[in-house]
Amino acid sequence: MNAVAEMIGNRHTQYDIVIIGAGLAGLSAGALLARRGWRVLLLERSGSVGGRASFVERDGFVWEYGQHSHRLGPDGIAARVFRELGETIRWSDPAGHRAYLYRDGRLYPRPEGPLGFLRSPLLSFRARLTFLRVYKRLLGEDPALWYSSTLLEWYRERFRDPEVERLLSFLGLTVMLPYPERVSAGEVIQFLKRAAKARVKQGEPAGGMKQVLGTLERVFATYGGTLHRHERVQEILVKDGAAVGVRTDAAMYEASKVVAAFPLFRLFDAISERWFASDFAAYVKGIVPSSGVSIDFVFDEAPTPYPGSILGADLPLWVKLRSNNAPDMAPEGKYVSTWGLLLEPGVAATSMEADRIEACIKRIMEELFPGCLGNVRGQRRLLIPVVNGNILTPAQSYPCRPDIASRDVRGLFFIGDTTRGEGSSGDIAFSSALKLAGLLGGNEERMKDEQGIQESGVRS
Ligand SMILES: Cc1cc2nc3c(=O)[nH]c(=O)nc-3n(C[C@H](O)[C@H](O)[C@H](O)COP(=O)(O)OP(=O)(O)OC[C@H]3O[C@@H](n4cnc5c(N)ncnc54)[C@H](O)[C@@H]3O)c2cc1C
Repeated sequence: MNAVAEMIGNRHTQYDIVIIGAGLAGLSAGALLARRGWRVLLLERSGSVGGRASFVERDGFVWEYGQHSHRLGPDGIAARVFRELGETIRWSDPAGHRAYLYRDGRLYPRPEGPLGFLRSPLLSFRARLTFLRVYKRLLGEDPALWYSSTLLEWYRERFRDPEVERLLSFLGLTVMLPYPERVSAGEVIQFLKRAAKARVKQGEPAGGMKQVLGTLERVFATYGGTLHRHERVQEILVKDGAAVGVRTDAAMYEASKVVAAFPLFRLFDAISERWFASDFAAYVKGIVPSSGVSIDFVFDEAPTPYPGSILGADLPLWVKLRSNNAPDMAPEGKYVSTWGLLLEPGVAATSMEADRIEACIKRIMEELFPGCLGNVRGQRRLLIPVVNGNILTPAQSYPCRPDIASRDVRGLFFIGDTTRGEGSSGDIAFSSALKLAGLLGGNEERMKDEQGIQESGVRS
C-alpha cells in the first residue's frame, strides 16, 4: 500500500474535486464545475449552506445573516455566475426601491452617476462641480496604476477642496472601506468604471439570499454534485508537493484537486504552513477582515412605507427597510428592517462595541423616523466577527491577493473573498469561483465517456 493509500484508510475515490466550504464561493464553484462534468464533493462544516450569506427560517420570518445585495444587479458578478449556469436571478421590483444617503441627521436621495451628483443637495454648487471633475477623472484612470495608493493620495495629488474630500468616504463605502486614507484608489476606480456602465447600482434578489442559494444548490445537485453538511475538513492531505485529498471528522476523500473556499486567514488550521513560501504564509496570516454589528428590528407598523436602503455618507452604516424589500420575509402584519454598522478595521466585535453601536443606530433611527422605537416589537442583534474577509487597502487590493491556483502546492486552489477575485465583498467570492471554473475548464474525459454511453445507448 502506498503512503497516500495508507493515509486514506476508509477512503472514497469517486471525486475529481473536493471543495471545502459551501459559502457563496464554494457553492458557486461547485455548481459551475459540476455543470462542466467534474465529480465534485462539497464539504460544509455547518448545517446550512451560504456561509456569511446564509439565512434561517423561523416563526414565519426569513432571517438573513445581516443583509445582502448584489452590486450592479443584472450587470454584476453574481448575475454573471448565474448566466454561466443558464439561470437568472429574479430581482425585487427596482421601481419601488429607494436609495438614500444618511448624513448629519438627514436623508438625501442617493446620487447615482454624474447627474445625480450635480443635483445633490449634499454639496454646495461649487463643490458639486468639483466632485464631477473628480468623478470624471477617476473614470479615466487605469486602476492597475492605482491599486497601491490610497484614494486620499490620489485625490490630494489633483484636488484641494475639503468639502469634496469629505464625500470621498462615500466612494470608499462603495467597496466597503469608507476611509479615504485607507482604501485602495485602484479598487474604487475599478468599481466606478464597472458601475458607470451598469443599469442598476444595487440589486435586491426577490426573496433575498434564499433564492440565490436555493438556485445554486439545485444546479449543483442536478449535475450530480454531492454536498455533505455537518462535515468539517480537518486536514488537506499533501504528498510530494501535491494536494491528494482531505481528512474530515467523518472520513477521508481522495481527489487530485482540492479547493479551499473559506477565508484564507484560516488556511493553516487545515494544512501545514511548511508547504508554502514564506511571503505567502506571512500575507495569509496578516489578512485584515472587517467586523460589524447588525440588528434586525421587528415592527407592527413599517417606519416608512417605502422599500429601500440607506448608506451612511460618512459613516459605515447600511440599512434595509421594510422586510428587507421583500414582504414575504416576514409574516403578515410584521415588518423587519435591518441596520448594520461596520467597526473600524482591526476593532473586534465585542459586546461592549455592540452596545455602543446599538446606541448609535437607535439614535439615528429616532432622528430619521421619530417615535419608531416605540413600535419595535422585537430585535435580533448579531455580532459579526467577519463581514468582508479582507478590507480593500492597498496591501489587500486585487494584485496582492493570492491567486486562485496555489503557487506552492499543486492541485490546491483558493477561492472566496480573500482571494484574487474582482470587486469587493461577495463579488470577490463569485468572481473567484468563475475564475476557478475558467482555469479548470470542462472535464473532457468524463464528458466524452458520457457522450459515448449515450451514443451506444442510442445505437443498441
Ligand atoms: C452581515 C453581512 C452583510 C454582507 N453584505 C453584503 C452585501 O450586501 N453584498 C456583498 O457583496 N457582500 C456582502 N457581505 C460579504 C459576503 O457575505 C461575503 O463576502 C461572502 O459571503 C463570502 O463568501 P465566501 O464563500 O468567500 O466565504 P464564507 O461565506 O465565509 O464561506 C466559507 C464556508 O466554509 C465553511 N467552512 C470553513 N471552514 C471549513 C472546514 N474546515 N470544513 C468545512 N467547511 C468549512 C464555513 O462554514 C462557510 O460556510 C456581507 C457579509 C456579512 C457578514
